[in-house]
Amino acid sequence: MTKNFIRFIAGAVCPSCKEIDKIAISADDQMIYCLSCDFKELRPSSIKNGSANTNAPKVFNLKDFRD
Ligand SMILES: [Zn+2]
Repeated sequence: MTKNFIRFIAGAVCPSCKEIDKIAISADDQMIYCLSCDFKELRPSSIKNGSANTNAPKVFNLKDFRD
């Protein structure tokens, strides 16, 4: 059994393919990427520094369903 989890950003919309809930954060926290297309970018600092009263996205874990 693998322990390969993807951390998604809840409600995030991919700027490339417009799919919702497809944006995930890489294991090293440096990148966000889309599971539906090839979109990738450096993780915005607003996510990294999610402080109290900002609209910090919720991050949730899902089992990696890719092969
Ligand atoms: Zn996409």
